[in-house]
Amino acid sequence: MRTLKIIALAVFLQMQFGATYVFAQVPQAEAITRQETLRGSVTPEREWWDVLHYHLQVEFLLETRRLKGSNTITFKTLKPGNKMQIDLQPPLAITKITHGDSQLKFEREGNVYWVMFEKEIPKGAEDKIEIFYEGVPVVSRNPPWVGGVTWGRDDLGDPFIVTTCQGIGASIWWPNKDHGSDEPDRGMQISVTVPENLVAVSNGRLKKTDHDAAGKKKTFHWEVLNPINNYGVNVNIGNYVKLTDKYKRKGGVLDIEYWVLPHQKEAALRQFKEVPRMLEAFEHWFGKYPFYEDGYKLVTVQYPGMEHQSSVTYGNWFRNGYLQRDPCGCGVGFKFDFIIVHESAHEWFGNNISMKDAADMWIHEGFANYAENLFVEYHFGKKDAEDYVVGTRRGIRNDRPIIGTYGSNREGSGDMYPKGGNMLHTIRHVINDDAKWLSIMRGLNADFWHQTVTTEQIESYISTKAGIDFSKVFDQYLRTTKIPLLKYKVNGKTVEFNYERVVKGFAMPIRVTINGKEIKLTPSEVKQTFEFSEDIKTFEVNRNFYIETAKT
Ligand SMILES: [Zn+2]
Repeated sequence: MRTLKIIALAVFLQMQFGATYVFAQVPQAEAITRQETLRGSVTPEREWWDVLHYHLQVEFLLETRRLKGSNTITFKTLKPGNKMQIDLQPPLAITKITHGDSQLKFEREGNVYWVMFEKEIPKGAEDKIEIFYEGVPVVSRNPPWVGGVTWGRDDLGDPFIVTTCQGIGASIWWPNKDHGSDEPDRGMQISVTVPENLVAVSNGRLKKTDHDAAGKKKTFHWEVLNPINNYGVNVNIGNYVKLTDKYKRKGGVLDIEYWVLPHQKEAALRQFKEVPRMLEAFEHWFGKYPFYEDGYKLVTVQYPGMEHQSSVTYGNWFRNGYLQRDPCGCGVGFKFDFIIVHESAHEWFGNNISMKDAADMWIHEGFANYAENLFVEYHFGKKDAEDYVVGTRRGIRNDRPIIGTYGSNREGSGDMYPKGGNMLHTIRHVINDDAKWLSIMRGLNADFWHQTVTTEQIESYISTKAGIDFSKVFDQYLRTTKIPLLKYKVNGKTVEFNYERVVKGFAMPIRVTINGKEIKLTPSEVKQTFEFSEDIKTFEVNRNFYIETAKT
């Protein structure tokens, strides 16, 4: 919506002044296409029905690199309706849709199918359809950044096949309602058929395995009891073996499984000691792991990792850091396994609390980035945690706002990770009350438990619980690319100061150290003066506040 406003302003300026250079100076976003609108918004053909359950049955045909299967969608109607939008991206194609005993008519428009019911279904009904599909899916050669199916091989030459679909959407490999606002309330079943010598690992728990000896196939039936993000659904096929563990907490035991290749067992047993450490830290900060019924899994893959719900994928070389790099450049990043910590943090922010619209993806990535430093604080103390979060600022580009374009499946800047994390860290230091901050972190996960949300809900929750209006702070860091600049001038005992490059009304309090003594200031765009008890020799802003300074 904000990007649209900028375009509107540019058009307005051009009309007023007839000056094309004005228009040329304002970066123009590309117009949103109809396909993007269909993918990224709640269309009338999506709005009238609510997904209750998916049962995806899919066979991976290795020789021809095809998929063949069906998805049974159980839904309830929120309004009467007779035309339904189902997403499935080419070259995959729907071959048949059944509704009870009858077959439904459908037509394709790019990535979308319009499904026509025989007659209008009334409001408040529960119903289901089964969608049959097949074809050669898009191949991803760079998972997880490029979505699709990767038909790979492991180190020993055995087939190693994975799906990834964050961003592009789950409809790149299975038919569904591909929008973040609607998760299947009663969960999902995923039945995967593969050659009998392979193992298929998906989300939730393995309920049973069928063996078709004549057809030399096995079908692995996985079940997820909780609502699940579409992009969090994944299938990994390989020569997997299973290791099991348990995590005991007050009031429950969490079943843990590690699905690894046979030659990875030893490395996994060593490196995955990170898992109980991660669970302990995050259950402290965010409350109970959100999917006890579905268990927790790490599944090894050939790409770095992804937050697949209750089935976190892992490919971080069994080493600390992120692919042997340190995100903060301060050494602290080597104290933990980035992928286990970051991707598992998404179980709380991303999978428990999920964005309705991809424009609000900072709710996933900003908090998961922020969670890395909370993990560090829990296990290594505040100094390391501050070094870490401050160190990650080197990755901030301030190229585009963090919030993307609503209704179009367009994400904002990659700054949603380190800048999102630093904004939350800054807000924590404005509140300056650890007990209150802990209660906000836990409260978010309790009050938005298993829900899809908007950024407005998260922003107003934090402001309300903190008792401080952070609306201008969120506007500044999420909706502009400008970092507040504190200008100050020292003159004897007095310091004159004000903010520049801030949104109207921005007056975020900060703490500064004057001659070694900590002072709270509340700068705004208007110049203010503070008088100290003696001549000011040193003036330093507490590093936990993500602002820039200029002495004049
Ligand atoms: Zn992430």
